[in-house]
Amino acid sequence: MAKKQFKAESKRLLDLMINSIYTHKEIFLRELISNASDAVDKLAYLALTDQNVGMSRSDFAIRLTTDEKMRTLTISDNGIGMSKDELEENLGTIAKSGSLQFKKEMDSAEDIDIIGQFGVGFYAAFMVADAVTVISRKYGENQAYMWQSSGADGYTVTPCERETVGTDVILKLKDDTEQEKYSEYLKEYELRNLVKKYSDYIRYPIQMEVERRRAKPKTDEQAETEYETYTEVETLNSMVPLWQKAKKDVTAEQYNAFYKEKFFDFDDPLAVIHTAVEGAVTYKALLFIPKKAPYDYYTKEFKKGLQLYSSGVMIMEHCEDLLPDHFRFVRGIVDTQDLSLNISREMLQHDFQLKQIAANLEKKIKGELERLRDKEREKYDEFFAAFGTQLKYGVLSDFGAHKDVVQDLLTFWSVKEKKPITFGEYVVAMAPEQKYIYYATGENREHLEKLPQMEIVAEKGYDVLLGTDEVDGFIPKTLGKFGEKEFCNVAQDDLGVEPPQAEEKNEENDAVFTLVKNTLGDKVSEVRASKNLRTHPVCLVPSSDMSFEMMKYLKRVNPEFHDDSGKILELNVQHPVFATLKEAATSDPQKAEKYAKLLYAQGL
Ligand code: ADP
Repeated sequence: MAKKQFKAESKRLLDLMINSIYTHKEIFLRELISNASDAVDKLAYLALTDQNVGMSRSDFAIRLTTDEKMRTLTISDNGIGMSKDELEENLGTIAKSGSLQFKKEMDSAEDIDIIGQFGVGFYAAFMVADAVTVISRKYGENQAYMWQSSGADGYTVTPCERETVGTDVILKLKDDTEQEKYSEYLKEYELRNLVKKYSDYIRYPIQMEVERRRAKPKTDEQAETEYETYTEVETLNSMVPLWQKAKKDVTAEQYNAFYKEKFFDFDDPLAVIHTAVEGAVTYKALLFIPKKAPYDYYTKEFKKGLQLYSSGVMIMEHCEDLLPDHFRFVRGIVDTQDLSLNISREMLQHDFQLKQIAANLEKKIKGELERLRDKEREKYDEFFAAFGTQLKYGVLSDFGAHKDVVQDLLTFWSVKEKKPITFGEYVVAMAPEQKYIYYATGENREHLEKLPQMEIVAEKGYDVLLGTDEVDGFIPKTLGKFGEKEFCNVAQDDLGVEPPQAEEKNEENDAVFTLVKNTLGDKVSEVRASKNLRTHPVCLVPSSDMSFEMMKYLKRVNPEFHDDSGKILELNVQHPVFATLKEAATSDPQKAEKYAKLLYAQGL
């Protein structure tokens, strides 16, 4: 029999499917189950008004059957079915279902991944099968038809038998290769996994005949138990998504169990956000804030994003656009009817609605974190220990574009309070005359608390925030101010606690500075009097705007980074040591040089 050719548009997509190197071939099952579910929807809808259908809601089901010998996987449904013309129309061309749009995207983007993200429907079957047979009987017709194709060379449609209304899609699986074990799709566990993963919340039961084993009743003379196998029809999907339920109908245990199973965590989540929004865009979202960062969290392996469902069908496992980077630790699900599984819908529209959902979710997440911060501080501290660094990067990223969202969520160790506090809490506790938010950053708190410059701040009764994270030094620089208050780096900025000293010229002191500078040479860029020291004789400060920690960090992430602005040696001219040095500078210059080196060493 002469084969009919696919329409041109279909052919190209078909080629793509057949030769796809796309790694998520497994989504074919989701696509076919989704089609089956749509077909059932249509007949179920008819049944509501048409007595003749003779079926009730509970009669509808989708069936998976495998035949190892024949290497076939069959997806059957008792939905509306297709007539001969519909088989030709629907499966012979995809131009109709608007996939032209998709083709255009493919031409411009060459982004194969899109296949996995938004369905391409029936054609996905050719990613795993080298021959596809569709047997279908349309509701209201007695004759069934068989559509057959082994890919790009075309298809045939012939009359056949089918006892009841509905459709079977029979996939003759491709031969296994090194990379692809198509025979996996014949295995009960694999099918179970795929249904759980992608189609758990399809509203009709997805059934499979499974083999089970049971003990035979023992007879008296029998020593060992004998077993027999029997088959049983099992429903693989749970059918009711948790997020579709009202909050009041879900227990904490249910949320926790769901989270752990779905997102492979051993721990309960720290917080749950369950929200239903109706309006310009309608969606339900169930989000979780994990307790700990997964082991791969700060690596490239970690995939951010929320699972995106459209009417109970998962269309994307990691929809990145739904989460800003600073909240990339959030896990969860968004279900919206406003997106379609069908790629043919305008992608632009998707984008717009996704953006709106993302913006709402960002607010929701921030709100929940603020609630934890204000009402459950211990939990918040636990959260911040796990993901604080992520939030800090959020301040820095995109040139500080997100700082307003994130800055209120940061905490730093307070020297006075001896616990982490926020900038807001710091500012509220500031003395009326205090000008700056004082901070210091370095490797550990002990060292920082011993900074010579600390004394003078402590004497005034001012608090200092300590940061021991690599990125901490960059935070005040990026923020510039918090509210009205500027930041002051205790280790390097003018502390501003003394009335500004008139820059009195002291030629004698200057001579000492010159001597010290000459002694130390290139080790320091400048020697000068300090305004920030009390009982300590000396300190080193960077000559550029950047702290020593920041430079170390930049050097590590970028070996090319170079900063030769150097260090400034600051001397406490009120200190007895300086008097001794000054003395020696005139009486015994060699001794003075020794002192200079000693002071530098102490500064270091
Ligand atoms: P889409 O589902 O996105 O429209 P598909 O290529 O998956 O595109 O399917 C094309 C059409 O074929 C569907 O719109 C539907 O009308 C029909 N179809 C596919 N599978 C079935 C099925 N199991 N039962 C009835 N009709 C089906």
